[in-house]
Amino acid sequence: MHKHVYIKTFGCQMNERDSEIMEQLLVRAGYICVRTSQDADLVILNTCSIRAKAEQKVFSLLGQLRQQKEKRPELRIAVAGCVAQQEGQHILRRMPHVDIIVGTQQFYQLPDMLQRLDQADSKQEICCTLDASFSIPPFQKLLHDAPPSPAEPEFRKFVTIMQGCNNFCSYCVVPATRGREISRPVQDILEEVRLLVARGIREITLLGQNVNSYGCTNDVADQPTGFADLLRMVAAIPGVQRLRFTSSNPQDLSVELVECFAELDNLCPHFHLPVQSGSDAVLKKMNRKYSRDLYLEKVAALRSACPDIAISTDVIVGFPGETDEDFKQTMDLLETVRYHGSFSFKYSDRPNTRSTEFSDKVAESIKSERLQRFQKRQDQISLEKNREYVGQTLEVMVEEIGSAKIKARTGSNHIVHFEDATERSPGDLVKVTIIHAGKHSLNGELPSP
Ligand code: SAM
Ligand code: SF4
Repeated sequence: MHKHVYIKTFGCQMNERDSEIMEQLLVRAGYICVRTSQDADLVILNTCSIRAKAEQKVFSLLGQLRQQKEKRPELRIAVAGCVAQQEGQHILRRMPHVDIIVGTQQFYQLPDMLQRLDQADSKQEICCTLDASFSIPPFQKLLHDAPPSPAEPEFRKFVTIMQGCNNFCSYCVVPATRGREISRPVQDILEEVRLLVARGIREITLLGQNVNSYGCTNDVADQPTGFADLLRMVAAIPGVQRLRFTSSNPQDLSVELVECFAELDNLCPHFHLPVQSGSDAVLKKMNRKYSRDLYLEKVAALRSACPDIAISTDVIVGFPGETDEDFKQTMDLLETVRYHGSFSFKYSDRPNTRSTEFSDKVAESIKSERLQRFQKRQDQISLEKNREYVGQTLEVMVEEIGSAKIKARTGSNHIVHFEDATERSPGDLVKVTIIHAGKHSLNGELPSP
C-alpha cells in the first residue's frame, strides 16, 4: 500500500528546489504527495533559519504536530534543511515526537532513513547532519539522479547551479547551514535545462546563494570561465524563452555579466542586487566586500546596458552599531537607486555568526521604527515606478488562470492581472497594455487590434 507524504517548505527558493528533490526521491520510493498533514503518514518540514522568526515558525508547527502524533503514533515527522543542520540532536531533545533530522545536502538519504525506521523494533530517532567541514559534495550526483517529475503541467523551474557560500557576511547563517561554496559542473546544468525544455518548461531560474561567483571556487574539468559564460550557454538552448537567476552578491557582479543584459534577448530585465545597507561603515562591519560607491557604479552599468532593467534589493535595518546617520545613508541610497521593490528585514542574531557577538546591538523599538520608515518609502517609490508602465504594452508570461482574471508576469518581474476571453495556459506569452498600477502589481488589458 502506498504511503502519503506532506512536505511543508519554509524560506528561500533553494529550499523549494530541495523540497522538490525530496518529493521526487520519495515518489520513487513509493510515496504519494498530499496537501495536508492530516492526510499524511510522513510529514517533512523543510526549514529555514535565516532569521530567528523563521526558526520560531518551525518550532511552533512542530508543537502543533505533537497533538497529531498523540492521536496517530504511527505518523512519522521529519525535520529537514537549515534548522535541522544547525540544531541537529537538540531538536530531538526539545521535540521528542520528531523521528528524523536530515541536514542540508543529506536529504538524498531520506528513503534509507525511513526504511531503517520501519525496520526498527522500538521507537528510534535518526539524525543525519553534515559535519562542520561540509566536505561531501553529494548534491551533484543527487541533482543528476533526480530529474524533475512530469507529474503536473508546469512552465518554469529552478535549476541549482551551486551550493553553499564562502562569503561569511557577519550576520549570515548560510555558510554554517549550507557549507562551503561548490559549483555544479556545467554539462550537468545544461543537460538538466535541455531535459526541462523538452518537457515543456519555458522559464528557467538559475539558483545559488551567490550565482555571480559560479565556477570560481572549485576546479571542475569542464567548467566555463564564469557565470556570464554559463548564462550565455543556457540562453542559447532552444526553447528557453525566459532566463532568470538569483541571488547575487554585488561584489562579484562582473562587466561580462552586465554585458549579458545587453546581449541576451531571453535574459529577463530584472536584477535582484542585495545591498543590505547604504552606509560604508555598516557594510564593512557586515563583511560585505563592496562600498556604497562601487554598488552605485554597478547599478549605473546595469541601467546603461539595459535601460528598462528593474532592480530590486534586500536591506537589513538595525545591524549592530547602525547609527541614525548610517540609517540615513540607507534611506538616501533608496532615493538614489529608486528600487522597483525590496525585501527589508530587522537584523536578527543567528547562531555561529560573528555579528551575534557584537556588543552594540540596536534596540528592537528603533529597528521597528527604521523598518517601517524604509518600507513606507519603498512602497511609495514602487508605486511611482509602476505608474511609469501605464500605457506601455508589455509581454507577459501567464502564471495562473483565475475565474475572472489571468495572473501573469513581465520580464521585469511585475505581476499583471488582465481579462482575456481566449483560452490560455500557464507559460503562454501574451502582449498586454498596462492600464493601472498599484504598489505591488499592475492591471492590463489586451491591446486593441
Ligand atoms: N546571498 C544573498 C546575498 O548575498 O545578499 C542573500 C541570501 S539570504 C538567504 C536573504 C536575505 O536575508 C539577505 O540578503 C539578508 O537581507 C537577509 N538576512 C540574512 N541574515 C540575516 C539576519 N541575521 N538578520 C536579518 N536579515 C538577514
Ligand atoms: Fe549569506 Fe549571501 Fe553573504 Fe553568503 S553572500 S554569507 S548567503 S548574505
